[in-house]
Order: sequence, then C-alpha cells, then structure tokens
Amino acid sequence: MSLSKIKHIVLVLSGKGGVGKSSVTTQLALSLSLAGHSVGVLDVDLTGPSIPRMFAIEDAKVTQAPGGWLPITVHDSDPDAGIGSLRVMSLGFLLPRRGDAVVWRGPKKTAMVRQFLSDVFWDELDYLLIDTPPGTSDEHISLAETLLQKAHPGQLAGAVVVTTPQAVATADVRKELNFCAKTGIRVLGVIENMSGFVCPNCSECTNIFMSGGGEVMANDFGVRFLGRVPIDPQFLVLIETGKRPRYPEGTAVNGKDISTPADAV
Ligand code: ADP
Repeated sequence: MSLSKIKHIVLVLSGKGGVGKSSVTTQLALSLSLAGHSVGVLDVDLTGPSIPRMFAIEDAKVTQAPGGWLPITVHDSDPDAGIGSLRVMSLGFLLPRRGDAVVWRGPKKTAMVRQFLSDVFWDELDYLLIDTPPGTSDEHISLAETLLQKAHPGQLAGAVVVTTPQAVATADVRKELNFCAKTGIRVLGVIENMSGFVCPNCSECTNIFMSGGGEVMANDFGVRFLGRVPIDPQFLVLIETGKRPRYPEGTAVNGKDISTPADAV
C-alpha cells in the first residue's frame, strides 16, 4: 500500500483560497528537507493545483511503475543548498497541458483523491504533506475518510491550518477547525501567513493588515499557534520566476548559511 512506509502524514488546510496555503506547504517541505528529512508533497487541490509551479516543475510528467505513479523528485539548482529527498505528486502532472481547467463533479474528485492515496509510489518518507483545496469540500471528506481508514495508528499526525490576519475575522477558518473536530483529525496548530511586511531595505516589519488575529483565534480554539510568516517580496520572486532569490550575507536556515555569494551572477 502506497502510504505504508510513511512515518508522518500532515494535512495543510485553509478556510479560503489565496491565503498562502500552498506557499506554506512548500516552505514546510523545504524546511523539513533542509533539516535532513525525506519529504513528499501531495497536491490534492484538484481545481487549482499550484504546487508544481511553486517548485518550478510544471512541465514534469509522472510515469507509471509497477508500484504505482512515480512522484517527481525536486532537484535544487544549487547542489550545496542541502535539499535532501523531496518528491511531489500533483494532478498538474497528469493534465495534457499546463493550466488546463479541471471541471469535475464530486464523485470523480473523490475517486481521484482515493487514487492519489493508494497509487503513488512514495516508498519511504519521514513526512507526507498534503496540500488540500480551500474550504471543506468533497476532497476533504474523502481525504479524511480514506486516511482515517487506511493510516496506521499515529501515522496521521494532524492538520496545520493556514490563515491570514484578515481572514481570521471570517467564519471560514473556524469552519476548518470545526471540520477537524468533527472528523477527529488533530489540529497541530495555526500559521498566520502574510502577517506584516518586512521592508527589504530597512528590515522593519509593517503590519499592513492587523496582525495577531491568528494567535487569538488559536487560543479561542485551544490549539497551538505555530507562528507568523511575513509578506516576503523575495518569495514572490522565487515563485514567479522559478529562480533562487538573492539572500543577504548572514541569512541562515536551520543553522545553514544560504546567503548569496557576493560574486554570484
Ligand atoms: P493558496 O494556496 O492559499 O491559494 P498560495 O500559496 O497560492 O495561496 O498564495 C497566493 C499568492 O500569494 C501566491 O502568488 C504566493 O506567491 C503569494 N504569497 C503567499 N504567501 C506569501 C508570503 N508570505 N509573502 C509573499 N507572497 C506570498
């Protein structure tokens, strides 16, 4: 069974689109990989699969092997960056053309989610991060049902809920937490994305939208607040151009220096 050799499965949820759920999934995957873990990312956002774009592997096509679909391995353009084993599966790789629209009824989406959970050959993974569509849709229900049925005890670690400061004020994100409570999926915590803007020139953080709502909401629901991610123009450069952004001297991730050498072109 395709999930049997995976140690921890984590769902990434958001109440609505555009809050940065796929971006947070991508950053979590890269951070875990940089920390030496083997990581898989399963993109279940069937109508808007953006994970291939985030990893700049949009033109990749998956192949079938006897054990199932072979996920795409992410290679870093900089071999010294320390990215370990990172594999990605998305509906985007199965579409005939980049950006093709997927207009499917519920049963077809449900079947696709089940197939993703049973037919991808992940082999051994420390973490499988599942990027879900916004809200609580057919895909969520079939994900929850299939995972709760198939996962071995403790394998489904839980869900990370992503919000923006202003989205906290809406009921959508609370619906997500209620969905977890109803299905019995543990909430690992809440991440507040786009929380302030760090000026690339003076490094001062300005709160464009109100900040801190995610923490208040997490406290209200008795779940952990995992932290804030500011709006980072460098991140947009990375996503839109597929290129590594320039990091100033002294920038480090997990103690590893990732700053751009002064003589880099
Ligand atoms: P979602 O998956 O919730 O629909 P995305 O992850 O696709 O949202 O993000 C929406 C847009 O916002 C993307 O263009 C992404 O690059 C940008 N974005 C997300 N988080 C940040 C951030 N912290 N800083 C800058 N841009 C961001």
